[in-house]
Amino acid sequence: HKSTVIITGASSGVGLYGAKALADKGWHVVMACRDVRKAGDAARELGIPEGSFSIMEIDLGDLESVRRFARAFKASGRRLDALVCNAAIYMPLIKEPLRSPEGYELTMTTNHLGHFLLCNLMMENMKPSYYSDPRIVILGTVTHNPDELGGKIPPRPDLGKFEGFEAGFKDPISMVDGKKFEPVKAYKDSKVCNVLTMRELHRRFHESTGITFTSLYPGCVADTPLFRNHYPLFQKLFPLFQKNITGGYVSQELAGERLAMVVADPEYKQSGAYWSWGNRQKKDGKSFVQKVSPQARDDEKGERMWELSAKLVGLT
Ligand code: NDP
Repeated sequence: HKSTVIITGASSGVGLYGAKALADKGWHVVMACRDVRKAGDAARELGIPEGSFSIMEIDLGDLESVRRFARAFKASGRRLDALVCNAAIYMPLIKEPLRSPEGYELTMTTNHLGHFLLCNLMMENMKPSYYSDPRIVILGTVTHNPDELGGKIPPRPDLGKFEGFEAGFKDPISMVDGKKFEPVKAYKDSKVCNVLTMRELHRRFHESTGITFTSLYPGCVADTPLFRNHYPLFQKLFPLFQKNITGGYVSQELAGERLAMVVADPEYKQSGAYWSWGNRQKKDGKSFVQKVSPQARDDEKGERMWELSAKLVGLT
């Protein structure tokens, strides 16, 4: 049989190249994207064979759209073998927060809350699995971790005591810790929540569902459109800097292959693991399970994140 994977944000970057790599491995890829036309064009341009992918609409920045997606997938009758939470926005230059239709700050909604809801809704399609190896993979990043060189540049992520979530996360609140709006920190905070979500999913559901929950840092994929909202000069210099100075640069193709390995290969069936290939890319570098940041490995924070996120997305 053909295994099915859903990849959010498969219309560009890591998600698109991951879709290609998984199609090459014989998977059927459901590209879950907000711009269906763009996704189709991107898939064809990259040469993902017709018939090995389908496209479904989802806007992770709109929780109602996430629910609609879950209903539509269920109605399609497809069995689900893997879910990849990959879509993200990074808006380093905005001065005022953008908002989801619910009124929540948009970076946290898109990157974390939308995926948090999606994971919870999609697990039911994976539970009665005929397939022995269902997986949920959530993209992490080195910038979630101030203990590592790539994560030391300020502003550092800080979830505080979730004061912002607790207060309802709507205007005038825009940050998880309830402090002043800082778009770069909002991105990093959302990625800490991504890692915490993976670990909580593992703790809560691995045993009862048999699902493998993992995260990965594919390397610095410096020329994806993630940086499209940055200064043009930054977009030009960042890949060169990562290639020649830090040695962290990874091509989109290689990042896609790494994602596909974590989704499909038997070596990566280790629930709760955060996979990395290191910060400096070495030739034939091997992957290893990396320790996540102090906040992302704090079980109490994980519990609190879960409770409050569940409330914000309307699961409780
Ligand atoms: P891209 O900007 O290339 O891709 C992001 C994808 O997310 C696009 O397909 C985009 O869709 C989609 N997306 C954005 N907002 C929404 C939304 N509201 N609803 C649905 N889809 C949405 O970024 P990357 O490929 O670089 O990033 C992918 C993941 O990899 C992210 O989770 C990021 O944190 C992670 N990552 C990236 C690194 C890097 O160096 N680039 C390093 C480490 C981790 P559209 O095409 O319509 O804009």
